[in-house]
This record gives sequence, C-alpha cells and structure tokens, in this order.
Amino acid sequence: MPAPITLSARAGALQPSLTLAITAKARQLRSEGKDVVSLSAGEPDFDTPAFIRQAASDALEAGHTRYGPVSGEPALRQAIAAKLCEENGVPTSSDQVLVTNGGKQALYNLFQVLLNRGDGVLLPAPYWLSYPEIAHLAGARVQIIPSTAAGGFRLDPAALEAAITPTSRLLVLNSPSNPTGMVLGRHELEEIAAVLRRHPQLLVVCDEIYEFLLAPGHSHHSLAAVAPDLAERIFIVNGFAKGWAMTGWRVGWLAGAREVVAAASALQSQSTSNVCTFAQYGALAAITAPRDCVLAMAADFNRRRLLLSEGLARIPGLNLLPPEGAFYAFPDASAWGLDSMTLCNRLLDEQGLALVPGVAFGDDRCIRLSCAASDTTLIEGLERLRRFQAGL
Ligand code: GLU
Repeated sequence: MPAPITLSARAGALQPSLTLAITAKARQLRSEGKDVVSLSAGEPDFDTPAFIRQAASDALEAGHTRYGPVSGEPALRQAIAAKLCEENGVPTSSDQVLVTNGGKQALYNLFQVLLNRGDGVLLPAPYWLSYPEIAHLAGARVQIIPSTAAGGFRLDPAALEAAITPTSRLLVLNSPSNPTGMVLGRHELEEIAAVLRRHPQLLVVCDEIYEFLLAPGHSHHSLAAVAPDLAERIFIVNGFAKGWAMTGWRVGWLAGAREVVAAASALQSQSTSNVCTFAQYGALAAITAPRDCVLAMAADFNRRRLLLSEGLARIPGLNLLPPEGAFYAFPDASAWGLDSMTLCNRLLDEQGLALVPGVAFGDDRCIRLSCAASDTTLIEGLERLRRFQAGL
C-alpha cells in the first residue's frame, strides 16, 4: 500500500478562492439545468471591446507566439508607465513596471519579494478575500484593521496608527474597494500619508483595479500622486480585467521601486515566465486607445449599481451603505438572524440565488452582491432575495 501523500503545511493552510468557487458552482448548477441566478462574480458581463480582440488576433497572426521578455513586451511596459504618469499623476518609467498574469500575480509576486516570515500585513476590513491568503503564502501575519458600517467602512487614520507594530511591513489599500465600494478621497489619502510619514518602515500596496468604476461625484486618486514624497514606498497593482472587460485575458501589472520590480520579475522568471505574448498586444491596444469604451461600460455599471442599491433598500432588514465605486453592494443582513455562510447556502438551495458570504471578506454580518450582470438578472436576483426574506 503506497504511503499517503501529505501536503505541505503551506498548501494545507490555504483556502481556495471562494468568489471563484461560488461562481463556478453557479455555472455548474446552470449547466445541469438548474434555475440559478448568480450575482456572485466580480466580472464584467460585457465582451472585450472588438478593437482589443482584433489587436490580439492580429498579433497572433503576425507570429507573436513565442517567449517574450519576462517583465512584459517593452511597448506595453512603456504604455503602462505613460498611463501612470499621465492618468494617475505618478511619474513612472518602464523599468518600474512588471506585466503580470492579472492583478493577482502582481500581488503574489510583490508579497513574496517583500515579506519575511512573521512580517505584518496591515489589512483594512472588509477586504478582498485573496489578500490574507496571499499574505499567508508569503509567511506573513495579517493585522486586520476593523472598520464600522456606521463609519462608512472607511479606514480611520487613528485606527491605522493604532494597528501599526514594529513588525508591520506592508499596508494594503484597495480603492475603490471590493467588497464595500468605498472610495478613498484625496483628503483621506492625505491623512493616511501623514500616518505613513511617522512609520518609515511601512510600505504600501495600492490595488487600483477598479479605478474607472466610480459612482457620480467620486474620483480616483493614487496615493503616490497625493504624497509624492512617499512614492518610493508605494506599489501600484492594476490590470485590464475590470476596466476593459478582460478578466480571462489575465493581464495586469505591478509598478513601483525598480529593485523590487526587478526581484518580482526574477520570481516570475522562475514561475510563470512572460504573460501570454499576443494577449499583451491586446492590452497594448486597450491602454493606448481613448477611454471611450471604458467609460461607456463604467456608466452602465453606475446605472446597474443604482438599480441594485435601490432594490436592496426596499428589502426589509437589509442595511446598505450606498457603494461609491467598483461593482458590488455589501449590505448588512444580520437582522435576518443568520450567519453569512448559512444565509448564502440557504439562498442558493432555496431560491437558486448565488451570492458571496461576507465572512470571506472579514464581515460576517454582510453579503456581497455584484451588479456586473444584466438588468434582468439583477431584477430576478432582487426578487429571489425578497422572496427569501418574506419566508423567514
Ligand atoms: N475579484 C473578483 C471578485 O472578487 C474576481 C474573482 C476573484 O478573483 O476573486 O469576485
């Protein structure tokens, strides 16, 4: 009899991504003929714009099918650097940019090259569920900074200051936020910068993947533009998935201090190598084009975010802070008396409605709904939620 295979402690402790798992489960149930409405995926339901698809297809036909430079096609790195300078006000040169397999690999690589065992990662809650896992994979400790719904799920600079310990090494900022939709304003970023100036050992990663998805009246600011004196300590993670509807392409980037980006590139050279070459040419067409298609999709998300928020406001017992960006709503459903996992399991079993439990994002009172779905799906999802509440 062969000896049982034991997994590494690292793999044993790893939680697979629940957002991806629920999305896959909903898809599978539908393929089995079940009537399932999914508001779980954080994925634009638009097709990638035609000119981007065409550019990738042209690159494929032109023979861009071989290994490329690990850090990315030079023209794409240059275009990302130009975007950061011009659109985000963050002076960046192309050797400060690494093209990655989506924003997730940018985070993974960064955490791996910055963090030692026991280092602290400061994580404002609620947070996107992959941050803690990526931190644990790097051997780091997660230091959660709680927030309150009454405080708008905002990062309180005093709470940040209080959470910092001598081993704190990296602060994660995600604005617009997944799952709350909170958008950090310029003044808030200035206050955060003031705290950072008092703690020179602390580095920051800004996950700006939802930068284009902003409710009216809100603007996106990069911390590195608001506090240029801290730019050496700030890393930007972003990608094409959300703004350009390119989730499956897996093209993202990491930008920041040259030596750190070089280390992340070395890590990538020993793991995945370059991002799919012809996909990078699609990304190049996307980033160098005017933002019309991005803004048109963002406008549609604004309309649907409102449709979702207004629908949720009409369901008794749900308490929603109007999201300011991204494409999620994160209502507090604790008045229904169920923990978020039980609630989501029952919604799927009893109503065929797939949502993501808030516990995965660090808040068991809440549930996450995505408005990246058609109006019909949103309306049907809301109706199923209302029916469930009525039956409680
Ligand atoms: N970021 C998206 C979400 O939260 C995509 C799925 C994932 O990678 O987690 O739904």
